[in-house]
Amino acid sequence: MSDLTDLTMVEAKALMDKKELSPIELTERYIKAAERGQKATNAFVTPTFDRAIDAAKASQARYEAGQAGPMDGLPIAMKDLYCTKGVRTTACSKILANYVPQYESTVSQNLADAGAITLGKVALDEFAMGSSTTTSAFDPVVSPWSGPEPEKAARKLVPGGSSGGSSAAVCGRFAMGATGTDTGGSIRQPAAITGIVGIKPTYGRCSRYGIIAYASSLDQAGAMARTVGDAALMLRTMAGYDPKDSTSVNVPVPDYMAALGQSVKGMKIGIPREYRIDGLPEEIAKIWDNGAQMLRDAGAETVDISLPHTKYALPTYYIIAPAEASSNLARYDGVRFGLRVEGESLADMYDNTRGEGFGVEVRRRILMGTYVLSAGYYDAYYRKAQRVRRLIRNDFLKAFEQCDTILTPPSPSTAFAIGENEDDPIKMYLEDVFTVTLNLAGLPGIVVPMQLCANGLPMGLQLIGKPFDETTLFKTASALESAAGFNGKPPFVG
Ligand code: GLN
Repeated sequence: MSDLTDLTMVEAKALMDKKELSPIELTERYIKAAERGQKATNAFVTPTFDRAIDAAKASQARYEAGQAGPMDGLPIAMKDLYCTKGVRTTACSKILANYVPQYESTVSQNLADAGAITLGKVALDEFAMGSSTTTSAFDPVVSPWSGPEPEKAARKLVPGGSSGGSSAAVCGRFAMGATGTDTGGSIRQPAAITGIVGIKPTYGRCSRYGIIAYASSLDQAGAMARTVGDAALMLRTMAGYDPKDSTSVNVPVPDYMAALGQSVKGMKIGIPREYRIDGLPEEIAKIWDNGAQMLRDAGAETVDISLPHTKYALPTYYIIAPAEASSNLARYDGVRFGLRVEGESLADMYDNTRGEGFGVEVRRRILMGTYVLSAGYYDAYYRKAQRVRRLIRNDFLKAFEQCDTILTPPSPSTAFAIGENEDDPIKMYLEDVFTVTLNLAGLPGIVVPMQLCANGLPMGLQLIGKPFDETTLFKTASALESAAGFNGKPPFVG
């Protein structure tokens, strides 16, 4: 081992259990990495290094007392959409720029209870709306990966979005893992284009309590890490029933770690023909074919399946998500939370606050959402979208009669440059073509890094699972991970 940041969470935990590594040493190394990383990428909105040191000392004491938790002493980054008691939580919006929550989200509490050490709050697209982390009200996050030759230095790339601070911190090795949230792909797309693992579990698997809402029927918490094993460790810690979230489901959380390295022999892997969309770059199609071959070589069988309503998924998502967002964001009115911009009347104050507090993309979503929910258009758009959503879910449930898991590309392109898709929202929305279907159907999905493309940038593959069957995803993902042997490292690491 050349550096502490080369360790996976599982490895570092084992060393700390054996007292060959101390949580303080590990945390100090990661703080140094995070400070360097911050200068290069802007990943952190609010670093909390002092708290991290205090937490590392407490962790050290637990190790000494033989009471260390499953993630004790492991430094992670927290997406700034999770409310953290006493630590500013912004959603990367001007409207919450000074918001300090009075309470802690259940998932961040679960991580802290297991001993994980939070290095700070990391950036996202404003209110998690985007695929690039450039809609943040703060500085855009620069990916630790560099653009293709020859314009390398000039092309600053996005780390994906909306969990772009998380993906940058993990791939750049200034956090061992990070939380993300995924409404339409925000864990999986950034993981895919930065060469890390990202899992969005089944809707209801993790509590959404204390996570700032974007689109409540789609939002899920999830984990981002460098290996499938680390993602399994994190998700196991994050997940669980929570009476404070009425949509969290009371089913046991299996030990996902036990699934790692298990044989995929005899498993059936579905390959959906509708995902071979026009314009899918040949290189990505090839990675997809290679992944299928790797699973066949490991003893699985691939089957051709059909998800006929796939082509309606994006328009359906971009009706339902903005509709729910427009309703969720109604609470930011200058009265109860964050920013207030005074006006002559109450209505003026609302207008001024929301006009100044929300960025362009958020305002666009509120307008779309309000429109599709308005009395005259509700049936034509919102109700119809709900019906199509059901058809999309039924497609999956039917396909799962023929297979155990489904293999697809996660993203139609490798990382693009900051500013590249900016003036064309539709182009940005197309980034989500392979990811939104899962959220509409409530299913779990994992992304595993596969290889570097000809332009030197990473790309992964996505596995989709049956409801609450994350175990099969971890098992299959770990088979893909060993077959692919991805070891790409970005040019910048902390
Ligand atoms: N890019 C998608 C959107 O903008 C997904 C975002 C997310 O999953 N939070 O809505």
